[in-house]
Amino acid sequence: MSRHPAHLDVETAHAGLTQVRQRIAEAAIEAGRMAQDITLVAVSKTFDAAAIEPVIDAGQRVFGENRVQESKAKWPELRARHSGIKLHLIGPLQSNKAQEAVALFDCIQSLDREKLARVLADEIQRQGRHPELFVEINTGGEEQKAGIAPREADRFIASCRSTYGLSIAGLMCIPPADDEPALHFALLETIAKRNGLKGLSMGMSADFETAIRFGATHVRVGSAIFGERHKKIA
Ligand SMILES: *Cc1c(COP(=O)(O)O)cnc(C)c1O
Repeated sequence: MSRHPAHLDVETAHAGLTQVRQRIAEAAIEAGRMAQDITLVAVSKTFDAAAIEPVIDAGQRVFGENRVQESKAKWPELRARHSGIKLHLIGPLQSNKAQEAVALFDCIQSLDREKLARVLADEIQRQGRHPELFVEINTGGEEQKAGIAPREADRFIASCRSTYGLSIAGLMCIPPADDEPALHFALLETIAKRNGLKGLSMGMSADFETAIRFGATHVRVGSAIFGERHKKIA
């Protein structure tokens, strides 16, 4: 049923993870930072449990998913078999899925509008669960992309804090595919700093070393660990 033959992915995933960890360590040294201050979020979207398990066995515990339904289908069972798993939601969140998201995720990186802030605040209160929250910033001002416009960021962060009583851990961005990512990482770092935020989720397979140079605390790496995703789903 899987598109990814499990026996092949075991090796790919294991080797990929080791290599990515090494690259993070080297980038940290070059930036004069500690590798332990950078959390590797292994992006497992589109991959099934058989492909994910070897990465868990290799010691990885933090994973990123972009869909609530997909995560609900594969993670409860994996979590029952492995302790210490932390799940990050890195894809857009519909308000009507906020309840499930608060129940399932340890970190929600895609807080990007007022209504979602309100619904999340309600759910956090109701469930007594406190996932870390990152505000997504649309650093490239792309119309089709989620995220708060950079010029709206300060006001939105203030509103999350004062109006909804939310604790914001950091900012997240996905730079436009054809832009120099460094410009976007620098902008995200600037917005975070002036708002007193420590968390910076930025950098993917193609550019996480650059992101580390600009202060990334979380890098979201998928294909460099798991291999290429099936085009239609990715
Ligand atoms: C898929 C995805 C990633 C990982 O991308 P790779 O290029 O495979 O490393 C990172 N962040 C977000 C938001 C994603 O959707």
